[in-house]
Amino acid sequence: VETPRTNFIRQIIEADLAAGKHARIVTRFPPEPNGYLHIGHAKSIVLNFGLAQTFGGTCNLRFDDTNPHKENVEFVDSIKADVRWLGFDWGDRVYFASDYFEQLYAFAIELIEKRLAYVCDLNAEETRSYRGTLTEPGRDSPYRDRTVEENLDLFKRMRAGEFPDGARTLRARIDMASPNINLRDPVLYRIKHGVVHHQTGSAWCLYPTYDYTHPISDALEGITHSLCTLEFEDHRPLYDWCVNNVSVPCKPRQIEFSRLNLEYTVMSKRRLTELVGERHVHGWDDPRMPTVAGLRRRGYTPGAIRDFCERVGVTKSDNLVEMALLESTIRDDLDATAPRRMAVLRPLKVVITNYPEGRTESIEARNHPKDETLGLRAVPFGRELYIDRTDFEEIPPKGFKRLIPGGEVRLRNAYVIRCEEVVKDADGEIVELRVSADLDTLGRNPEDRKVKGVIHWVSADHGVRAEVRLYDRLFRVAVPGAGGADFRTDINPDSLQILSDAVLEPALQGAEAGTRFQFEREGYFVVDTDSTPERPVFNLTVGLRDTWGK
Ligand code: ATP
Ligand code: MG
Ligand code: MG
Repeated sequence: VETPRTNFIRQIIEADLAAGKHARIVTRFPPEPNGYLHIGHAKSIVLNFGLAQTFGGTCNLRFDDTNPHKENVEFVDSIKADVRWLGFDWGDRVYFASDYFEQLYAFAIELIEKRLAYVCDLNAEETRSYRGTLTEPGRDSPYRDRTVEENLDLFKRMRAGEFPDGARTLRARIDMASPNINLRDPVLYRIKHGVVHHQTGSAWCLYPTYDYTHPISDALEGITHSLCTLEFEDHRPLYDWCVNNVSVPCKPRQIEFSRLNLEYTVMSKRRLTELVGERHVHGWDDPRMPTVAGLRRRGYTPGAIRDFCERVGVTKSDNLVEMALLESTIRDDLDATAPRRMAVLRPLKVVITNYPEGRTESIEARNHPKDETLGLRAVPFGRELYIDRTDFEEIPPKGFKRLIPGGEVRLRNAYVIRCEEVVKDADGEIVELRVSADLDTLGRNPEDRKVKGVIHWVSADHGVRAEVRLYDRLFRVAVPGAGGADFRTDINPDSLQILSDAVLEPALQGAEAGTRFQFEREGYFVVDTDSTPERPVFNLTVGLRDTWGK
């Protein structure tokens, strides 16, 4: 695991290094702090930081903060925490695009002086209609040929706050007839009064656009390879235009790759924001969310997420990745590392009638079947136990190998028991099983017969009550909102099931939030951040097998 596979971007970099184009590569991960990071961002993080590691270069963390009204410091902090948690370190190379506002302004003056930018008085709607369409060329703005002096004067007064929002923009003077709409005199600056920017406060009422800010920020940081998702392919000529027309120290190369799309979830920050804001989930770190914080709380490890990103690879073709792939990476990781425990999720009382009252035995159990270094633990055993309700059937379906009336089953790590009596309440509900144990079967099989089934159990006197949260996919369909429907109509109403009277073996008591276990025969579980010593709470990370869609 985690051996970086080759891909077309690695090959470009290898060729650039071989040709002596760069002494060292510099990449960057450029999130906009308008939400929490999701698994798609993880792909970009693993790619950018991973390439820097592979080739002995560096990777900057840069906040693309040109859209202040949707951004805030909570998002900045969560992004830093998530990148670190994923295992990457930007050292002292954390930057904000807003650090460059003064330089970006100076470059805009340079463009005006070169007659490559002008102040335009068209409003947003007029600007759109002048822009033309895919099949029709645009029309020149009536303000396109303003003199340099007039442009300089108006642009300085825009900065000084003399004009209201929307009254004027600064536009690049490129080509209104370009077949690429992005080159039809794109807007470089907008007026925005009254916003308090999380980094620059109220210093500016003039904000540069992403398309102008991004290439110049890359160039100022000496980025050699600027990796972005495919939807920016059409913006590349504008990216190149910006770095070629202002006096920046280097000319980074933009390379596009396809974004990660994952089945049964959504990844756009707008939609994720709606899920949180409209309380379809309990926050950005809800374990059903595809966010890094959600996956962490769900029990995913940073290694599994990195491994997943390697497995999906880096290409230029659109793709929809199966949820089963994400799940199998965490399952592989936890199978190797998670200590085994017994937990009964839906308890049914069992009384061993031939086992002495008041006696407690301490049974040694291995923490991992394949890894002896994880050691042994003591599991208390007594006359009264709990087993899972689903491990007993009064009228068993064909092939049922667990407990049935008159039948035998092995209690994992302990004795073989036989069900002698089924006790029901007035409603006919099964409330207890009375069983006998074969006390010769601890650590060895009976000689005269074969007992096939094995079930887990917890001592009733020693068990710890807990809440267990079972999660299912957040959406009912692979591509929510496909065909133009509101994606919210595809939300799975049964994505969370809470089992509030689960019983855990005592070794699970006091486990710290974030600790992962395999509950034998059930799945992998992690201690939730809501957990307390009095009321442990566990989240299902993933089942033992791939039951997706079954
Ligand atoms: P959204 O469109 O949901 O707002 P975004 O791409 O605008 O997402 P940013 O914060 O700007 O979000 O993204 C930071 C970086 O992560 C960008 O370089 C972007 O290309 C990359 N990225 C975002 N989503 C994905 C994805 N699904 N797969 C791969 N890379 C992604
Ligand atoms: Mg965005
Ligand atoms: Mg973006």
